[in-house]
Amino acid sequence: MTTPPFSPPPDRPLSARQRGDLVRALAAEVGFDDVGFARAEPLDPEPFDRFVREGLSADMDWLRDERRLDPAKVLEGARTVAIFVKGYYDPNQRPGWIARYARGADYHNILMRKLRRLRRRLHALDPGVRTYGSVDFGLLPEKAWAQRAGLGWIGKNGCFITRTQGSWVLLAGLVLDREVEPYDRPHEDFCGTCTRCQSACPTDAFPRPYVVDARRCISYQTIENRGAIPDDLKEGTSSWLFGCDDCQEVCPWNERFARPTDEARFHPRPGGLWDVPLERLLTMDEVEYEERSRGTPLARPKHFGVLRNALLAAGARGGSELARLCEAHLDHPHPAVRDAAAWALQRVVRKG
Ligand code: SF4
Ligand code: SF4
Repeated sequence: MTTPPFSPPPDRPLSARQRGDLVRALAAEVGFDDVGFARAEPLDPEPFDRFVREGLSADMDWLRDERRLDPAKVLEGARTVAIFVKGYYDPNQRPGWIARYARGADYHNILMRKLRRLRRRLHALDPGVRTYGSVDFGLLPEKAWAQRAGLGWIGKNGCFITRTQGSWVLLAGLVLDREVEPYDRPHEDFCGTCTRCQSACPTDAFPRPYVVDARRCISYQTIENRGAIPDDLKEGTSSWLFGCDDCQEVCPWNERFARPTDEARFHPRPGGLWDVPLERLLTMDEVEYEERSRGTPLARPKHFGVLRNALLAAGARGGSELARLCEAHLDHPHPAVRDAAAWALQRVVRKG
C-alpha cells in the first residue's frame, strides 16, 4: 500500500478527501496491507436469503441477521465502510492438516488490535467521528464489502481473492458516520473459466460455483460442528484436523501471487499444536489441550472437537498402535468422540 502523506489541518474539520488520506495513512501505520472504501448503502439481501433458505448455512442462521445487511443498523448515520486487508501466507509452511491461518496466533486478536489502534488514532485526529469495527464475528459481511470496496473478489471457492496476494488474506471492517473521498469501484471477478477449486473439494461442497454448502464443508465440520461428523463426510474429512485449504491450495492466484506476511504472529509458534503427532493428540488430556491451544484458533473446537477429528484421521491412516489408541475412546463422555472412535476402529479393521 502506498501511504499518502497526511498532516491534519489545524483547528478545522477534515474534508472527505483528507479523511480518506488519513484512514489510508493510519492503515499503513498499524500494519494493514491495503484498504478500500465503499459507500455504506445496504447490501442486496437475496444471496444471503437464498443461502439460508436452501439450508446451505448449516446452523449459522445469524448470517441472515438483517443488521448485517445495512451498516446504518449497526451505526446510526453510517456513510462509509472501510475494509482492511492483512495477508497471512508463510512460504516456509507446507500444506498440512491444519489450515494455514490457524498455525499461529488467533487472527481475530491480531486484526482487532490493529483496528483498535487505528480507531484510537482516527478518533483523536478526526474529533466527533463515530465508528463500528468488526473482525469476522461482528455484524459486517467483510467479503461482500471488500469486493464493493474494490479490493478483490469473492471467488468460485467462496474465498476472498486479491490480485496482489491471492486469497491467503484476512479482512477487518470499519463503519464510519462520515464521508471519505474517493470511494473505490466494485472489483470485477477474475475467476474466468477456471474450475480448479470445484474439482479439488474432497467432500463435494460446491452445489454451484461461488457457493459453499457449509454442511458439507470440512472447515465447518471440523471447527463449528459440535456433534458427530456425518457418516458420508467422515472419509473426506479425515485428512484434516482443523479447517481445510484444499480449494485455496489449487487456486492459480495463490500459486502466482501469494506473498510472505510481515506479521510474525501468523508464524507457527514453538510448542504449538500444529506439529504434534497424531499419536500424541490421541492421548493428550483436556487440560494440556487447553493450555497449548490458548490464544490460537484451535481453542474454538475445544478438546473434544479436535479429538473427534484426530480419531477420523487415525482411522484413515490405520495400524495396530493407532487402533489401540482409538479403542481407548469408545467410552468417552462426548457422543461425537465415541462415534468417531467407533468409525475409526471399523475403518482400521476393514483396512487390516
Ligand atoms: S474448504 Fe475444503 S471442504 Fe470446504 S469447500 Fe473448500 S475444499 Fe471443500
Ligand atoms: S481456483 Fe480458479 S475458480 Fe477457484 S477461486 Fe481460484 S481462480 Fe477462481
